[in-house]
Amino acid sequence: MVSDLFALHKNNKIAQKNTSYSYRLRKLKKLKSTMIEYNSKICDALKADLNKASLETELTEIMPTISMLNYAIKELKNWMKDEKVSTPLLFKGASSYIRYEGKGNCLIISPWNYPFQLSVYPVVTSFMAGNTSILKPSEFTPETNKVVESLLKAVFSESEVAVVHGAVKESTELLKLDFDHIFFTGSTEVGKIVMEAASKNLASVSLELGGKSPVFIDKGVDIEEVMKKISWGKLVNAGQTCVAPDYILTFEQNLSKIVSSFENYVKESYPEDLKTNEDYCHIITEKHATRLEDLIKDAKEKGAKIVFGGDKLAPKVFEPTILTHTNKDMKIMQEEIFGPILPVVIVKDINEALDYINSNHNPLASYIFSNKDKSIDKFLEQSFSGGVTVNDILINVANSKLPFGGAGKSGIGNYHGIEGFKEFSNHRAVMKRKFDLGTNYFFPPYTDSKKSLIKTLFKKFSSIL
Ligand code: NAD
Repeated sequence: MVSDLFALHKNNKIAQKNTSYSYRLRKLKKLKSTMIEYNSKICDALKADLNKASLETELTEIMPTISMLNYAIKELKNWMKDEKVSTPLLFKGASSYIRYEGKGNCLIISPWNYPFQLSVYPVVTSFMAGNTSILKPSEFTPETNKVVESLLKAVFSESEVAVVHGAVKESTELLKLDFDHIFFTGSTEVGKIVMEAASKNLASVSLELGGKSPVFIDKGVDIEEVMKKISWGKLVNAGQTCVAPDYILTFEQNLSKIVSSFENYVKESYPEDLKTNEDYCHIITEKHATRLEDLIKDAKEKGAKIVFGGDKLAPKVFEPTILTHTNKDMKIMQEEIFGPILPVVIVKDINEALDYINSNHNPLASYIFSNKDKSIDKFLEQSFSGGVTVNDILINVANSKLPFGGAGKSGIGNYHGIEGFKEFSNHRAVMKRKFDLGTNYFFPPYTDSKKSLIKTLFKKFSSIL
């Protein structure tokens, strides 16, 4: 019963927040060694759920999690330390500090697209900040979920980390419980449902959502080289990546080279038939692949031209695709694509590109390829996004020392590294008195001498620049 599990976590809340640095460190190290031991099981599970190549699983699921663990193992002691701050003269005799404590009982809801990383990473972050966690992974990745559960069971007790399997019904039940913090990764639509449910219990939320992440390609760059990076970023996980380049904005003169470079990349990277290619990730379900087909159909009907690809090759295999002549009435230019389809939008100059980007909601990531500092600065100054990579793709997410999260509609809150530790922590303000030089002098009755002293102090305070 989920309610029994939640009661177990509630009972453990105080003990969990007081777990020592050495206890947390021991578990982080155990998790790392168990993950390494589980490497092939994790790869096999991702192969079964998404036809994901082992190399891709290691590169995009296991290694980022190990890298985060390495960083946390090195830094956790510092992160857990109380943070001293100065105390105003008025309170002489007191000291002040911030004590980072677990928020309490956390619920973590994860998506299917990186089902290992996006489940384990937040669970570990929650644990190292001193919380209990219940993880609800996506219903679409049953094999990975089994391995994740077995891995977590090998390291954590049920009262500190537990997995609840299921879909909307189970998620809805969990969302009714009185969690202290809800960490959700998934779509914007479900993010709204989560936030509404959280408001009933006044739980804090981290919402790691998606959006349409644009790429601007300036004049004067090596298109062949740039397109190798963009094509990789678009086709890894078959485009089902929250920070995948959603669409390109560029100049007419770059277009033909962009298309030929994409074509070359596809032929070189996937020489065998895509339908049976072991390196080409599948679309998660037939329904999701049909959604991509519908996006293409709608775009074609409204005037788009398919210049490469365009077809669903098998129930869960969608061809790498480039299309041009798109407009804002097309669903493909409104919804996050989340598949191997790359629209190219032609602009006259960087200002038009920025206007286009700013006419959409803030994306999770944005990208610019340019040799000109002026263009790069303008891009950073005149747009919003959760993260930016300049002259590369996706890599801002790979550095555990950078925060990861959205801006505006692409999400609330950040994690990775110390940002994750803080996201899952209550920043508890502590002021500790050792002695008092007489602040209670100002307690009532408010005599004339007290009023005059306050006046003097007020003048002094006001004159500080
Ligand atoms: P989703 O929102 O459909 O599902 C995510 C989770 O929510 C799943 O566990 C699912 O069971 C649960 N869920 C679904 N409907 C629900 C409901 N009505 N009530 C309660 N829970 C519900 O997302 P998805 O399709 O699994 O993932 C794709 C989306 O996730 C994309 O938009 C992508 O950009 C985003 N994403 C964001 C990040 C990030 O870090 N910002 C990472 C990966 C994916």
